[in-house]
Amino acid sequence: MAKSSVKKITCPKCGAQSDFTVYSSINSVHDPELSEQLKNLSLYEAVCPKCNTKAIVDYGLLYHDMNKRIMIYYVRKEIEAQKAADMFLGRGVYDVAEDLKGKYLYRVVRSKRQLKEKIAIFDANLDDRYMELSKIFYLTKFEADYPDLDAEESYIYGSDGIFYVAFSTKEGEVATNFDMAVYQHMKENFTTLSTPLRGGDVFIDFEWAMKQINKENFGQFLSEGIGGDIKVKIQ
Ligand SMILES: [Zn+2]
Repeated sequence: MAKSSVKKITCPKCGAQSDFTVYSSINSVHDPELSEQLKNLSLYEAVCPKCNTKAIVDYGLLYHDMNKRIMIYYVRKEIEAQKAADMFLGRGVYDVAEDLKGKYLYRVVRSKRQLKEKIAIFDANLDDRYMELSKIFYLTKFEADYPDLDAEESYIYGSDGIFYVAFSTKEGEVATNFDMAVYQHMKENFTTLSTPLRGGDVFIDFEWAMKQINKENFGQFLSEGIGGDIKVKIQ
């Protein structure tokens, strides 16, 4: 069951106080409705009962998919993120890690969007390590095609195997279709990654993906076969 508590929040527009339910964990099997709200991030929206103003609330939580044996911990503070990672890796706190049999897939993420992205990737039964490599590929292409737009971050979103890549730029967000051929390419060319899918590093992100790319495999990363076909077309 979902663990929750009720907090008082103040409307940013009219100042009215209202109750807002905050969840510390959501189980996709036991709480399918809450999981859906998490996946579209409506879980983080508060509507003022007095003036109907919508406000976005932000807090960390643990997402648990029992069927796929996946736990994704969204942690906002740096120090808490390391604690969550230690817990997942069985160091320090054993409450969660010890009573589980077999290998769980653990991830620690630092934003709601990263949480949403991870859930979308795992719901589609894809490997987030190759997705992170694919995102760097797209970022590299994007920078080459649009040198004026300075992309700060990129995110995958979508469902049912239809994905898009969004780039955060100073001018706002732009997106392009995600070609699964890029993912396949990464899978075929990066056969030795530093981390297994399960039981390894819990921070699978941009920094992690950058560490996988070195002088030896950079050619495979941006091979002409795949790079030539893909056009980053802003939608
Ligand atoms: Zn209000």
